[in-house]
Amino acid sequence: MQAALIVLIACAIVGWNMAQAYYGTLAGARAQLSALARSVAVEVSSTLSTADGLLKDTAALTPTANGGFDAFLRMRARINGNVLGLSVADGTGRIRFSSAPALVGRSIADSSDFLHFRNHPNDRSLFISQPEAGPRGTLRIYLARHLIDRRGRFAGVVQLAISPDLFTRYLDSARPSFAHGGSALFGPTRMVLARVPDPGHRLIGRSLAKGVLLLRHLASGRRESVQQGVTTMDGIDRMVAFNSLPRFPITVAVSAPVASILQPWWRDLTSNLIILAVVVLVAIAVTRLAGARRREQARAASMIAAERDFSRTLVTSLPGLFYLFDADGRFLRWNTNLESVTGRSAVELTNMCMADLFDETDREAIDRHIYDILTTGSGAGEAVIVAASGRHHPYYFSGMRILVDGRTCIIGVGQDISELKQLQRSLEVSNEDLRQFAYVAAHQLQEPLRVIAGYVQLLARRYQGRLDADADDFIGFAVAGVERMSSLIKDLLDFSLVSAKAPILRPVDCHQVVSAAIADLAVAIDDAGAKVTIAGTLPTIEGDGTLLATLFQNLIDNAIKYRAEGRRPQVTIAAKRTGPTWEFTVTDNGIGIQPEHFAKIFDLFQRLHRQTDYPGTGIGLTISRKIVEHHGGRIWATSEPGQGSCFHIALPAMDSRPAADSVIDQGKRAHG
Ligand code: ADP
Repeated sequence: MQAALIVLIACAIVGWNMAQAYYGTLAGARAQLSALARSVAVEVSSTLSTADGLLKDTAALTPTANGGFDAFLRMRARINGNVLGLSVADGTGRIRFSSAPALVGRSIADSSDFLHFRNHPNDRSLFISQPEAGPRGTLRIYLARHLIDRRGRFAGVVQLAISPDLFTRYLDSARPSFAHGGSALFGPTRMVLARVPDPGHRLIGRSLAKGVLLLRHLASGRRESVQQGVTTMDGIDRMVAFNSLPRFPITVAVSAPVASILQPWWRDLTSNLIILAVVVLVAIAVTRLAGARRREQARAASMIAAERDFSRTLVTSLPGLFYLFDADGRFLRWNTNLESVTGRSAVELTNMCMADLFDETDREAIDRHIYDILTTGSGAGEAVIVAASGRHHPYYFSGMRILVDGRTCIIGVGQDISELKQLQRSLEVSNEDLRQFAYVAAHQLQEPLRVIAGYVQLLARRYQGRLDADADDFIGFAVAGVERMSSLIKDLLDFSLVSAKAPILRPVDCHQVVSAAIADLAVAIDDAGAKVTIAGTLPTIEGDGTLLATLFQNLIDNAIKYRAEGRRPQVTIAAKRTGPTWEFTVTDNGIGIQPEHFAKIFDLFQRLHRQTDYPGTGIGLTISRKIVEHHGGRIWATSEPGQGSCFHIALPAMDSRPAADSVIDQGKRAHG
């Protein structure tokens, strides 16, 4: 649209300019041609006046002429190089005097001037003949006046022969500057007296009686006029400036082809059209580019809109809770779930902070947690949302620090853990029930077992060797069974006690703990001839001294028990720092463990050997794992079967333990 307007304006400007230039060019040419025609007219008029004066003088002197008149005429005829001769003829047409003596006596009775005056004896004007071929074939024009005797009768003519070149000179000096411009002089009968250019004088003498432009000029009745049209003389479209002499029947014409006149205009038109074409092309290119850009922008805008709709739909319909808040905790974006879970409207949330969603007692911890995410980049934890209705909703939140439009914000999601919490609670209850059951069962079993053991031992004492051999065996089996049951019940009791006991964490010097465990095992170590060493110094960690003592005692005891035949047992206890943990190792050179059993040995009652080979209950490592877990650590075994085993215990170092007052703890406290 804009391009079309630009093109239209450019066309209008060019059109207007070219029209102005067209008419201006024609007007300029008209003025130039008219001025030239005027100057030629002045020159020709003055020349003819001079010639006419000469004729008049001669005519006046002729009646008194004598023998010296020829010489006089010769002298007068010399006024101009183009004057060919001055002659006087009598009433019969015979030349009586002449500037050319050879002509004297010749007859001009059939010449046009003589015939004219003989037929019109009263014509007192200057006669101008048409160009004629002279005696030697040269073209000439006769100017003549009549002679009358004393009684006023026709007595002959005074005749001046001139060359058409007399006029050609004037015409030549007044040639227009346009290519193929020309000028001409027309006589009384619209005969061409002179023409420039006219090589070979072919046009001289030609009649323009039917010359349309000349006729149009003469018909106008004006002395000066400019006509335009196809000329009769050369069939070219010309502009012709005519100027008719006032005193003589002669018309000057100065012309130029319209095509020559308009040549510079055509040149201008061509360059203007080229410029216009360039403007049009540029406008089209600009329009196309602008169109392509507009289309591109529209496409990008619709893509952005689609993307925005998509993200909006995505955000609002995200499962769980989604939120984005700034560094001050102010909500920027959230999904509809957040509104429904909190029971807050969008307007309310806009004016709320993240911490406002929680119980007042939790807010400080929440703020601290947000601060942690802002400084570390991410974080997660449990917290309980208090809805507008007062209902509590436990959630697990995980958030990340991000930059939104140059602002630091936190984006996060929350997952409903109500069911998980429910499950956890019921698991805890049933665990507690089980533990109680195990404890009560083991405790209650101890009494009847003691009675059975007492009587079996009494039986053995009284009747061993007094009954038959089978009875001795049976009594032996009963004693062994009772002993085994007794140790099983004891270990079960230990297990239930360890499971129930919440560890009391305080700094514990592990070196002391392990040393005490070794001392407690002195008898077993002695019996086995074992060598138990502590490599270096063991660290102090945060833990429960009693439980840690049980742990190391179990492991050292096993290391001695599962010794290899014919090899003196060697047990080494060591510790090394790996990142945030201390890794303790209890290494022996015993029988080792097949890798496929590495996990299984920590399960309750899982044993790899027969009771007769290695006595035991299969509870020791289960208790050990429980203790390690109570300390937030990990236990695992490695071994080269036949060469020895190594038990690894990773426990948190004191300086790496997280602050106890975490959001998770807060969440647990708030919920249950
Ligand atoms: P228990 O020793 O009473 O059988 P544990 O729970 O202490 O029960 O050990 C479980 C099983 O792991 C053992 O029966 C034994 O097969 C294996 N085990 C434990 N410690 C070692 C060790 N140091 N070397 C080889 N095997 C071991």
